[in-house]
Amino acid sequence: MQKDSHFPVIIIGAGPAGLFAAANIQSSQTLLLEKKESPGRKLLISGTGQCNFTHAGAMSDFKNHFGDNYQFLRKALKSFTNQDAIEFFKAKGVNCITDPNGKVFPASLKAADILNALLISCRNAGAVLQTGSSVLSIQKENDIFVVNTDSGSYTSEYLILATGGKSYPTTGSTGDGYRFAASLGHSIAEPHPALAPVIVSNYEFAELAGISFQNIEITQWRDNKKLRTFSGDIVLTHTGLSGPGILNNARYFMPGDELKLNISNMPESEFEQQFVSQANSTGKVPISSFLKNTGIPKNLANFILLKVIGSLTRPMAEISKLQRKTLINHCCAYPFIIRQVGSFKTAMATAGGVVLHEINPSSMESLLVPKLYFCGEVMDKGLIS
Ligand SMILES: Cc1cc2nc3c(=O)[nH]c(=O)nc-3n(C[C@H](O)[C@H](O)[C@H](O)COP(=O)(O)OP(=O)(O)OC[C@H]3O[C@@H](n4cnc5c(N)ncnc54)[C@H](O)[C@@H]3O)c2cc1C
Repeated sequence: MQKDSHFPVIIIGAGPAGLFAAANIQSSQTLLLEKKESPGRKLLISGTGQCNFTHAGAMSDFKNHFGDNYQFLRKALKSFTNQDAIEFFKAKGVNCITDPNGKVFPASLKAADILNALLISCRNAGAVLQTGSSVLSIQKENDIFVVNTDSGSYTSEYLILATGGKSYPTTGSTGDGYRFAASLGHSIAEPHPALAPVIVSNYEFAELAGISFQNIEITQWRDNKKLRTFSGDIVLTHTGLSGPGILNNARYFMPGDELKLNISNMPESEFEQQFVSQANSTGKVPISSFLKNTGIPKNLANFILLKVIGSLTRPMAEISKLQRKTLINHCCAYPFIIRQVGSFKTAMATAGGVVLHEINPSSMESLLVPKLYFCGEVMDKGLIS
């Protein structure tokens, strides 16, 4: 082993977790190994390139979003709060803005500014970033970690695994860290795609992709039984459904489930009452005018009318009872059958990973292998939203 291949600390993975760890290790020279030719590839596409890096709410709000894992994260979230994150970037010259939903972004709306701030902090902390260096395996021999890459081996006293999850593999996050952790004795909760869009069977709306609905009600059905009702913003994609309402609930979906969307955002009874009342009072009005007032986007309303009534101009009074019932069904509970729940290719996050009960929540050090630490998405996130 060459002399310059030994480092006090090696971090594997130059995503936000690895970079932030490297930026905060001041006392020793740290080697940061990244397999891609450039660091932070996933960070750069986060928040559609704008990087929603934290939330402005009270720390107690975070509790609701981490489910059972909140207990594990409690100490970490207390010791470095959302305000601390905002201050950290501000001190590096990155001002932040908060959108009406409390999401915090760099004021420039450029994820690259967050990445640059992290890279400068790493450099100031004396970390050595080595890109294009893929770690293949790790061993621990006599209290020293041996890290084998495609271009040579390195040793260290401390090792931090920051290899991310398994989603968007083109960014470099291919789940290698699970293999490394397992080889050192850790258990891995089966990784699966989270925050993923769904692909719909016999999808009819490819040409209407991009149409979105704000905070509509969705019911989820399985084997003709209603499982749950939730609400959220939804976007029609080329192959199915996406948007926060889908992404945040994807972990509950299975292929074959039916999602019924209330695209009119009106209870069925109210929709029917308004329909009947208008058909009785101004029956000559074309059906398309009625749908216009429900707020359903025009192209979609036209699509539904042609499908159900076969016309956009038929007067309301001439709509049969059966057509009315079908129309109400389409507008208040449009059915989509899930063919596939995302995939690692399209999921924004990975659920599962290195199990938390083998990690010390105060330090993120392994409870099985001394001086081995974990940070970021490589750890099991369980049910996130
Ligand atoms: C489309 C999209 C949008 C998102 N938007 C947001 C958002 O707005 N806000 C938010 O908080 N989160 C968002 N996320 C999630 C966020 O990007 C991740 O949670 C975050 O990047 C995880 O950070 P990490 O450092 O743990 O892992 P990663 O960012 O995945 O970084 C891991 C790094 O390790 C490297 N690596 C892996 N294996 C090896 C190896 N064998 N050798 C060397 N290097 C290796 C990888 O190349 C990678 O650079 C989004 C994700 C996606 C995909």
